[in-house]
Amino acid sequence: MRWISNFGRASSLAVVLLWALSVGATGAIAAQRSAAALYKDAQTAEKRLHQSATRLKKKSEWNKVSKLYRKVVLSHPQSGYCDDALYYEAEIQVGIYRRFADQSALQRALDTYLLLANGYPSSKWTKRARLSRGKLMLERSDRKNASIELRKVAKQWANSSEAAEARRLIENMSVPRRSASESLPPGVVGVRNIRHWSDSKREYTRVVIDLDKDVKYRQGQLEKPDRIYFDLIGTRVTKALASKPFPVEGDFLKQIRVGQNKPDTVRVVLDFKSISDYNVFWLPDPYRLVVDISGEKPRPSRAPEALVAAEPTPRVISPARTDTTSPGSPEPATAASSERAEVDLPPPPRADGEHSLAQQLGLEARRVIIDPGHGGHDPGTMSKKGLREKDLVLDISTRVAALLEDEGFEVLMTRTQDVFIPLEERTAIANSKGADLFVSIHVNASRSSKPRGIETYYLNLATTPDAAEVAARENASTTRRLSELNDLLQKVMNNSKIDESKELARHVQGTMATNLFESTKDSRNRGIKAAPFYVLLGARVPSVLVEVAYLSNRKDEELLKSAAYRKKIAESIAKGVRSYHGTLVRKTSLDTGTRVAGQ
Ligand SMILES: [Zn+2]
Repeated sequence: MRWISNFGRASSLAVVLLWALSVGATGAIAAQRSAAALYKDAQTAEKRLHQSATRLKKKSEWNKVSKLYRKVVLSHPQSGYCDDALYYEAEIQVGIYRRFADQSALQRALDTYLLLANGYPSSKWTKRARLSRGKLMLERSDRKNASIELRKVAKQWANSSEAAEARRLIENMSVPRRSASESLPPGVVGVRNIRHWSDSKREYTRVVIDLDKDVKYRQGQLEKPDRIYFDLIGTRVTKALASKPFPVEGDFLKQIRVGQNKPDTVRVVLDFKSISDYNVFWLPDPYRLVVDISGEKPRPSRAPEALVAAEPTPRVISPARTDTTSPGSPEPATAASSERAEVDLPPPPRADGEHSLAQQLGLEARRVIIDPGHGGHDPGTMSKKGLREKDLVLDISTRVAALLEDEGFEVLMTRTQDVFIPLEERTAIANSKGADLFVSIHVNASRSSKPRGIETYYLNLATTPDAAEVAARENASTTRRLSELNDLLQKVMNNSKIDESKELARHVQGTMATNLFESTKDSRNRGIKAAPFYVLLGARVPSVLVEVAYLSNRKDEELLKSAAYRKKIAESIAKGVRSYHGTLVRKTSLDTGTRVAGQ
């Protein structure tokens, strides 16, 4: 876990000590406690901060945590905890900057990252610290220095996901700026693009507004006709966007209008047939405002004509073979629970022997979305030997798709090639294509080479620091930013199928553990977990994210190299989906007379 064993200790120490002297070190008292204890103090304080909405509102509480991390470095500058402490301290300062618009905190964050990078150059955090500096500099429109930092990351850690992100940012720097310089004065945030995905049948639309930066906005809803508008403050619509038509198909979302409402405000208006509900959230890197809008509540099972709607954008692997056979009892029925995680059993089927109307009519849609993580310029995690997550998960996903197709499922894949698909588009595909479930497939990585095995996630607040870290990595974001997701999740989760997703997670994890390890008690069965993944945010169908193995573990890496093992993984996932689908069919039959559609 600690990475400072093999570099110039003297120079790093000098840096830290110089710095300590310059601010007037108060480490004497703290030195009585060990570095480990001090570091733990800071972590505990940080956890308390993130758990309390009241604390989060007070800058003094944030500063307290920041100081506790710094105390580790001041008291034990040679300790292996220093790099971790500095990294987390910097993240806290970024949090202060964002939440309280405190420019001095931004400067402190930049300095702290630099102290980490210079003082502990062989720390695992160094590349991320440099990357973060580059990104913060970009936010300050300090393009020259940002470019220097980002190029450093791209060159020095060429095979890392940080380098991939740095390269992407460098690319982005050169592309939109040219059009920006045409029309936007410095300091004005550009509204660059508007994208949308709709399904008129299900009355669902996701609209994404791409901006240079997150901005304050006002939102409002007007009636007759129903419409939602967003006033984006301090923004200017680009000429390219203003002149762009927005072809809208279907009759739920009728029209998108964008215009410069005031000199400093862009208004985006979405016209609808009728709206029952909508959610709004930001995604970072690059900034985009995501709006999910529903008309009627989604129906639990679709009428047959909904099946025709699929467009070729995500490849339709095969038309549905509608099949009324209900699979037998849930597959992971032999799965015992492990002490370490929630690997409990799926509930036994309720044997009422009834067939639903949907089943009798053969209307079960059985449409599954398989989402191979990452792709294109985003390789995901990478092993030292160069195995890339994006390739492995595409291989496994393709196998899962073929297996499910053989069993009569209709399968859509979010990508079938090595291309980049934004996270928000993946869920939008699931929602707008009337899927029954959504399975995102990934490969895990850890800072330690020890962890190995499988875990399956569903959308919720992260329940463990490990889960938060996995989410941070998959979101290409920081664990600190995840804490800001709390409010958002409360809103968005109203429409999400949390219980169903947890159930799906249990089935998939259960069959994987049984198939791959023979016993669910195997320590490689890491269980089901909750975390806020952007890719699952706003999904209206049961959705899970499977981490099939650890590329950071040598043995798991060996296994992943083998096509036979990848095939086995795929078989296990497909089996889990089939097993879950079995309960879905049974539930539908129970629900027909008793429950309100979509609830
Ligand atoms: Zn991933």
